[in-house]
Amino acid sequence: MRYISTRGTAPVLSFEQAMLTGLARDGGLYLPEDIPTLTQAQIAAMAGKSYEEVAFDVMRPFIGDTFTDAQFRDLIARAYAGFGHAARAPLVQVDSNHYLLELFHGPTLAFKDFAMQLIGQMFQAALSRSGDRVTIVGATSGDTGSAAIEAFRGLKAVDVFILYPHGRVSEVQRRQMTTPVEANVHALAVTGDFDDCQALVKDMFNDFAFRDDVRLAGVNSINWGRVLAQVVYYFTAAVSLGAPHRPVSFTVPTGNFGDIFAGFIAKQMGLPIADLVVATNRNDILHRTLQTGAYTKEGVTPTISPSMDIQVSSNFERALFYAYGQDGAAVASQMEDLKSGGFKISQGAYDMLTATFKSGRASEQETSATIAAYLAQHGELLCPHTAVGAHVAQAHLGSIPMVTLATAHPAKFPDAVKAASGISAPLPARMADLYDRPERVTPVAADLAALQAVIKERIIT
Ligand SMILES: *Cc1c(COP(=O)(O)O)cnc(C)c1O
Repeated sequence: MRYISTRGTAPVLSFEQAMLTGLARDGGLYLPEDIPTLTQAQIAAMAGKSYEEVAFDVMRPFIGDTFTDAQFRDLIARAYAGFGHAARAPLVQVDSNHYLLELFHGPTLAFKDFAMQLIGQMFQAALSRSGDRVTIVGATSGDTGSAAIEAFRGLKAVDVFILYPHGRVSEVQRRQMTTPVEANVHALAVTGDFDDCQALVKDMFNDFAFRDDVRLAGVNSINWGRVLAQVVYYFTAAVSLGAPHRPVSFTVPTGNFGDIFAGFIAKQMGLPIADLVVATNRNDILHRTLQTGAYTKEGVTPTISPSMDIQVSSNFERALFYAYGQDGAAVASQMEDLKSGGFKISQGAYDMLTATFKSGRASEQETSATIAAYLAQHGELLCPHTAVGAHVAQAHLGSIPMVTLATAHPAKFPDAVKAASGISAPLPARMADLYDRPERVTPVAADLAALQAVIKERIIT
């Protein structure tokens, strides 16, 4: 299996190289040259299998010879062993044809654990074979950073540095980043906002001398390995609702377009998905794009669903690549136009996108009202991101079963949940002592040289 860039001019890579590289050298994102398909019989045979077995069936065709079957099974088993639910991604029915797919039973209570836990295992296996060591640096508004620290803590071949904006993440998110005791993980509180953190990381990747010196690697949501791991739960959910004999639709709370793009891959692989519904909060660039065909940047407004407060959804580039018939030059030219504020999607590409993706948005008031209504009517306490999804899904319910992705546990966003519902969501018992564990954090200025000095001093050589 070979991997190509959405902009057409970067080197073609293996799965292992694409995973360790992250961003392509031409600025594009890696995708498999061909999307493997599964037969109806192969999909039907997933009924009754464990999450781990389905994960193997779905991902195996993508990884080439990076791992043997036995190794890959072992990595999958380790990745999901720490989840707090035997099904890993259980479905909960809330209405005659509406289900929630609970993706928050991982160690940091958000769906990002599904991909990050597996990426951690795959990095470790690939690096211990090559004898290399890498330094992972990432910026976070909360969920990605905690998932990355949890996944890489204690692994031998990696140091992890996570930059988060001081004072601007929830207390649970902060504690998940600052309480792990392992020497290879470092939470850095940056004096600035999320954009400052992201700009610092970008500058570090563009400082080639530093990049080579510390062997920088990235695990943000453009990493193909992360998208791939998220394809699996579309299969487990759809199969348990009757696929491949019955179609299923999904509504996905969306920010960077990674999670819903994984649904698109599942569909290309042969899973009978009817609608893929993009749910946005008031930062609704994707909803506007799907309504009008024009992708136009506006400012980001903070909301109670902060993991979706995004202006440029990086993984949308992957959907554009397919919409443009895999024409890398067309994608590169649209991305160039984005620098000056936006672009207009061609009619053919727009028709392809709207045939696959539906969309909707939820205001802050609608999000809070949905949290209250689901508690009253269904006894389910939703996190604000899930509530955005549930609100949007409501408008797309019909005869086909609808699955809304429940992307985080309500206890991760206690203030917004309490304000909307009047009740506090307790942390699961396995992490009930989170508030008692000592914190370890390094404050840094939003300054490239200062940050590079901290990293060089801390890495384990
Ligand atoms: C990251 C995140 C999202 C958005 O997912 P994308 O893949 O970026 O679209 C939604 N909800 C929660 C809780 C998240 O952490």
